[in-house]
Amino acid sequence: MENNGKKRIFLSLVLGAGFIYALVFLLIWYIISLNSQTLNKILMIGLLSAAIILMLLVLGGMFFLVLTLLRFDLPPKISRMSRKVVDFFSPAVFHLAKVMGISEEVVADSYIKLVNQLNSQSNEHYQPEDVLILVPHCLQKNDCPYKITTDVENCHRCGRCSISGLLEISHERGVPLAVASGGTFARKTIKDRKPKAVVAVACYRDLLSGVRDINQIPVIGVLNERPNGPCFNTTVQLCKINQALDCFLAPEEND
Ligand code: SF4
Repeated sequence: MENNGKKRIFLSLVLGAGFIYALVFLLIWYIISLNSQTLNKILMIGLLSAAIILMLLVLGGMFFLVLTLLRFDLPPKISRMSRKVVDFFSPAVFHLAKVMGISEEVVADSYIKLVNQLNSQSNEHYQPEDVLILVPHCLQKNDCPYKITTDVENCHRCGRCSISGLLEISHERGVPLAVASGGTFARKTIKDRKPKAVVAVACYRDLLSGVRDINQIPVIGVLNERPNGPCFNTTVQLCKINQALDCFLAPEEND
């Protein structure tokens, strides 16, 4: 469903960040080794061990991430561990990308696709009522008079924006739909409703912070489309919502 090439950007940066961490450890170890006293020896062993553990973590994590990219069916535990590796390296990856002049949007897109794949391949399924489709308010037509943030059922389904199609999916598949007027509201909605999995629609910036914040439950992020510029009459491809739900719902719920 997604482009492996883009996911490799994040993976390559994870590898780069891991090597930089390890090099820093080795450099400190080398400096300390110039003055050989007992305490320094302990420090040296500690740092060397940390560098080795870090490298093993990078290589092990990379191994499972590559298996994920190759679409091997991994046990949920391995997927969750791989997700932790991705989250552990993500701050360093974004810094490294900035230094290398790679745009944040490109790396964020790669990160979201990788996390999506990890979550969609975890083989964990949920009841429809335990999944939440969370979408931004900017999907609603700007001049629509109906207030859908308090209750999305207020939409009159005129078909002028994606909300009517999303409601149709929500009713067909029995998965609740919520419209958030911002990041804070989105977090509050998740806190209040306590879904076990989320299909979140947003721009790359909001998805990035949302996916990072909600790391206790699986999230599949779907980027909205912005033909009229950011935060104004945006749209979303409904087939991507259905594809994301296919990953979370048990096979019988997908029939
Ligand atoms: S589909 Fe619903 S939310 Fe969109 S413009 Fe029509 S009534 Fe308003």
